[in-house]
Amino acid sequence: MLELVKYVFKNENIEYIGILPIESCKIINQSLYERTCLWAKSVILFLVPYYTEDRCERNISLYAVPRDYHSYMASLTDRVVEKLQYMQPDRRFRGMADHSPIAETSAAAMAGLGIIGDNYRLINEKYGSYVFIGGIFTDMVTSEKPKEISLCCHCGACTSACPSPDNCLSALTQQKGELDEKTASLMKEHNTAWGCDICQLVCPYNKDVKATPIDFFWQERIFELTPEILDSMSEDKLKSRAFGWRKRKTIERNIKLLTE
Ligand code: SF4
Ligand code: SF4
Repeated sequence: MLELVKYVFKNENIEYIGILPIESCKIINQSLYERTCLWAKSVILFLVPYYTEDRCERNISLYAVPRDYHSYMASLTDRVVEKLQYMQPDRRFRGMADHSPIAETSAAAMAGLGIIGDNYRLINEKYGSYVFIGGIFTDMVTSEKPKEISLCCHCGACTSACPSPDNCLSALTQQKGELDEKTASLMKEHNTAWGCDICQLVCPYNKDVKATPIDFFWQERIFELTPEILDSMSEDKLKSRAFGWRKRKTIERNIKLLTE
């Protein structure tokens, strides 16, 4: 089964693919699991790298520099599911883009796609932690066995560098409404209008990572979001960005904070 799946992914520039029997996965959303893939016997896991070798000045998280990765993940998954369905018409396949009922990081580690860092990220040998994890559920049966999960070297760099251990700064930048003083000053101090990459930037496993071979992540990149850039964006353009997720008001508030 793995060979068939690798063949289907071949033209998509996806190199890290694994399969797990469903019983090896930890279900984290029981109702979603029951509603969508109770019939599944296995899950296909794959990594989508997004790093583009740029560490220039920027005020948004690396993952949000290109257009919203959800749209890429959804179209990739649709294409792959269509091909699998064509080759195995009697089988079922269902892709899950960023809304999976299983714990994806540990599943990807058990599928042999990487180790798990103290920052809870999956760390791949080639692309570091700059990867998104995709999943496709199927009723095909796999003979693959889960691998033992390996952990990072616990160097402590991410913990020491983290500016907001109790309340992740990345989540704080995405909250709606008025920002409290502490959050506002953290965002200013770290010059972020969206997200936080600090625990990834300091991780030694991310030192010499390779850039993504996927075109989508090199196109229409915005590193430094300014009021002028935001004003020039139509609602549709804003919707195509990860930082548009919480609507214009939220990102507008954040940029204003950095520029005042
Ligand atoms: S993303 Fe930033 S705030 Fe969140 S855990 Fe990592 S370093 Fe800490
Ligand atoms: S910075 Fe160190 S402790 Fe943190 S995830 Fe990377 S290797 Fe592990």
